[in-house]
Amino acid sequence: MNGETGEPARAPHAAACPFCSLLCDDLIVEQAGGRVRVLKNGCGRAISGFENPDGPNQPRLKGKPATIEQCIERAAAILRGARFPLFAGLGTDVGGMRAVLSLAERTGGALDHMHGNALQRNIGVLQGTGWMTTTLTELKNRADLIIFAGTDAVSAHPRFFERLVWNQASLFQLDSNARQIIYLGAGLNTKPGRSPEGRKPLHVRFDPPHLVEIVSALRALAAGYRLQAASIAGVRIPVLNSIVEKMKAARYGVLAWSSAELDYPHAELAVEACVELVKDLNDTTRFSGLPLGGNDGAITAISVCAWQTSFPLRTAFAAGYPAHDAHRYSTGHLVASRSADAVVWISAFRAAPPPAAKPLVVLGAPNTHCPEEPDVFIPVAIPGLDHAAQLVRLDSVVSLYLERQRTSPLPSVAHLLTEIQNAL
Ligand code: SF4
Repeated sequence: MNGETGEPARAPHAAACPFCSLLCDDLIVEQAGGRVRVLKNGCGRAISGFENPDGPNQPRLKGKPATIEQCIERAAAILRGARFPLFAGLGTDVGGMRAVLSLAERTGGALDHMHGNALQRNIGVLQGTGWMTTTLTELKNRADLIIFAGTDAVSAHPRFFERLVWNQASLFQLDSNARQIIYLGAGLNTKPGRSPEGRKPLHVRFDPPHLVEIVSALRALAAGYRLQAASIAGVRIPVLNSIVEKMKAARYGVLAWSSAELDYPHAELAVEACVELVKDLNDTTRFSGLPLGGNDGAITAISVCAWQTSFPLRTAFAAGYPAHDAHRYSTGHLVASRSADAVVWISAFRAAPPPAAKPLVVLGAPNTHCPEEPDVFIPVAIPGLDHAAQLVRLDSVVSLYLERQRTSPLPSVAHLLTEIQNAL
């Protein structure tokens, strides 16, 4: 029995991890004395997430301790007085996101995720041209060539290679040791790309903002054009030609990018170039794209929004029905222009700082540092650790149920938002 919470200890058992969008479901954890311990298969981020003790659980009104009921009443009063509230951050689970949508519809508010800029780089291309993408399962079981364009995958998803690239078992007897790995870009951690037998990946270095030129050159070469240049962004043409040969020889190639890491002006052009290269290669072989990223519940948030409104995030209910506008309804624009006259910031997985906005309601991880004390701060439970949760995986095709792993006094985002809506 747990002496602090009265909760019975739990013997080692399987658990899924909520701390990045890979949602690894092979962790072994145990719970004793109210603390969770990761015994097997957790990366550093998972261990720190699961094993961190609960933070301070005191709700606050303008920095002063308050009851949760007082905080709910104050948050409801702020929303009652707002003409156009913004629900931002959106680091929550399916239940929390459903509650966000309900409250946004009731109050005529707008929705955007803390990774809204990165999401929009992909969404704009998907809306404009369409894309051909694959799933993690297909990658794991079929890919014989994986190209990482401007990303190393492991900075955002630490176990990417362990789980999906150098896996020993595969459905179709694929020899994962024989996979070819290519990195495009600089500043990447390429060590995980070395095969278990010691084969080094090919790493083509150039300044990250030149990715669009490199991928466009690969497209031109793959289409049979000759380039009137000795090099592109410092990469010699024969090197690019050798990559084209590998892509054409692949039986199932995958081109992965992370729009969060393509953080420079007009980076959506690089995403578009990747997407179009994949389409071109399918004239002669099988090739797919794989957009990485989507941590902090971003894939869950955008999925739930699409299920319920048919639109991605950056959707608002101001007109009484959902309307999407990628620029007007971005957090940056709504806060800077003060078009939003109240902000509700949600970040349940980690302490992500809210924007400087007034009035501000924060439903955040207990240790959230706010540059200025918000009008309302309520510490919330972590989905998949402090309460059972459903989350959507990186590839958007699988949603996982994550069990509660410990008892926490903190409320879930779904519970709080429902209470706030009831108090309107
Ligand atoms: S890679 Fe991501 S999902 Fe997997 S254990 Fe690490 S943090 Fe958790």
